[in-house]
Amino acid sequence: MSRRQSNPIQVGSVTIGGDAPIVVQSMTKTDTRNIPATIAQIKELADYGCEIVRVAVPDKEAAKSLKVIKENASIPIIADIHFDYRLAFAALKAGVDGLRLNPGNIRDPEQIAKVVKAAKQRQVPIRIGINAGSLPLAPEKYPSIAEHMVDAAMKQIKLLETLDFDLIKISLKAFDAPTTIEAYRMIAPLTTYPLHLGITEAGLPATGAIRSAVGIGILLYEGIGDTIRVSLTAQPCEEINAAYEILKSLNLRQHGPTLVSCPGCGRTETDIVALAKSVDKKLKKIRKPIKVAVMGCVVNGPGEAKDADVGIACGKGKGAIFRKGRVVNTVAEADYLSVLMAEIKLL
Ligand code: SF4
Repeated sequence: MSRRQSNPIQVGSVTIGGDAPIVVQSMTKTDTRNIPATIAQIKELADYGCEIVRVAVPDKEAAKSLKVIKENASIPIIADIHFDYRLAFAALKAGVDGLRLNPGNIRDPEQIAKVVKAAKQRQVPIRIGINAGSLPLAPEKYPSIAEHMVDAAMKQIKLLETLDFDLIKISLKAFDAPTTIEAYRMIAPLTTYPLHLGITEAGLPATGAIRSAVGIGILLYEGIGDTIRVSLTAQPCEEINAAYEILKSLNLRQHGPTLVSCPGCGRTETDIVALAKSVDKKLKKIRKPIKVAVMGCVVNGPGEAKDADVGIACGKGKGAIFRKGRVVNTVAEADYLSVLMAEIKLL
């Protein structure tokens, strides 16, 4: 998998683009004016592995809160600005590490120029965040939404470049995965700015994570993308888990444990679903990048999961504990979970 070459930018302490790892980001869902709640959510996100967090700035009071939020955050903060360009000044003054501007609702070039000048003085990058739901131009002029999105982004890029500003990151998000994929594929060869990938308004975790995995995963596999956000109607930490699962599935990042579990079949003689769920719950507390297998039979279990660091292959009333595909112990069914977790602790 060869990666599109992008010029890296710095968002606070985090590098996006170039050879840097694909960065995982999310967005707080608290009222930004509620400073303690927002700080607590950022801390929780950071603990889950979020590397950059975006915060909505809907009004002056939210912008004012950013200073204290920034002082208490261990990860870079990006201010999400819509409609009122003056909120970007307040955010910059508060010390944010990045701005997200939506060209669909901040359209006046003079206002944009003022924001760009202030961002340049502080060397703060700007994400040109195109959203299919709020496109700035006349849709009838374009053969497809993707072309409309790309054109809107390119126009904004040109405006920023004429202002001698190149700390740019781009996103082209749509709900529809094919539209999103098409838009990113189109823009990828047109610029060298880093690309922020996401499927917007993807939905509840069960469907939203799949929709995001399809859209983001296809692009990442093609080498397109430098940072990702999985947008889910859920607690933000679920976005982080989903983002890392996408990156782990493509061997792009290692993060925490990976559970390998067989689907079960006519050979299974234990409640494999319940066991896998229990193991998964316990693995949530582990940060080490280990692979754990829960398999339904001794016939194929160890062989099918030979990459796993440790695992269990369940038989009738007893199961085999294995490491790297080799059986190292046999345990009674009542002890499956405890012995497996004890083995994991030894890793
Ligand atoms: S590992 Fe065994 S029980 Fe699980 S699906 Fe394969 S054959 Fe069936």
